[in-house]
Amino acid sequence: MIIFKKTEDLRSYLAGKKAKNAQVGFIPTMGALHAGHLSLVEKSRKDSSITVCSIFVNPTQFNDPKDFEKYPSTIEGDITQLEAVGCEALFLPSTREIYGDDTGTEPHFEIGYLEHILEGKYRPGHFQGVCQVMSLLLDIVQPDRLYLGQKDYQQCMVIDRLVELLGMRETRVMIAPTLREADGLAMSSRNIRLNKEERAKAPAIYESLLYIKEHLEKGETSSVENQARTKLDQRGFRTDYIEIADAETLQSVEVWDGKRKLVIVAASFLGEVRLIDNLIV
Ligand code: AMP
Repeated sequence: MIIFKKTEDLRSYLAGKKAKNAQVGFIPTMGALHAGHLSLVEKSRKDSSITVCSIFVNPTQFNDPKDFEKYPSTIEGDITQLEAVGCEALFLPSTREIYGDDTGTEPHFEIGYLEHILEGKYRPGHFQGVCQVMSLLLDIVQPDRLYLGQKDYQQCMVIDRLVELLGMRETRVMIAPTLREADGLAMSSRNIRLNKEERAKAPAIYESLLYIKEHLEKGETSSVENQARTKLDQRGFRTDYIEIADAETLQSVEVWDGKRKLVIVAASFLGEVRLIDNLIV
């Protein structure tokens, strides 16, 4: 695997490969890699001739400075894992390489209501930061396929919209299922930060999504939502949201017709660690 720290080096490597008709798959990450990330790399390896992964902890998407400071970093292990799954290229830029001296002068990306609901509501500015870094990374890599995890459901919708806004018709957005630990906890880089007691409780988020899925009936949705939230409260979670939403639009569904495709989305704190998960119904 070739490791690129400089944008221009990666650009010229990819230009050379594309001149020989290589298909490029791209997996942007913030590192502390786990099997979920690697599953995206493996998918790209099957579909494309060149797989590029990036590791960049993007400061502009963190609304909480403490979360940024404590974001896990396991770079040596990440490199070993990427090599083991046959990733061809890793982009490992510094903040200066991405933003120069100024992270603050980004344009506003017109992602509409997605910016203000759910994750957008509880993490103000988050999706603008995601769009800011993704627009730069996409410009550098110009992938044929961009691999994202369903784990970040709203982010997938935002990036899909961004790719459209950027007019990148050549880039296909590929969304891969959420990989879970044996007890159901969605794999996440932030799981490393859970202490033993918190880790034991953490699968309750997924269980609450399953609870809603099992008990959901046609008609109003708020009572089953409230029951699930109470279960999380009782286990010591602090829940930002647990919501039944339209799977296409992410708008909240208060009355379900029994047919519309839904997604149940949740974000909840265990101690200092904020976990998110979702389940399509
Ligand atoms: P992150 O490093 O958390 O920014 O994630 C990088 C990419 O990996 C994003 O597209 C995530 O949605 C995806 N991802 C994170 N966790 C998982 C998981 N458990 N299963 C599948 N994909 C994941």
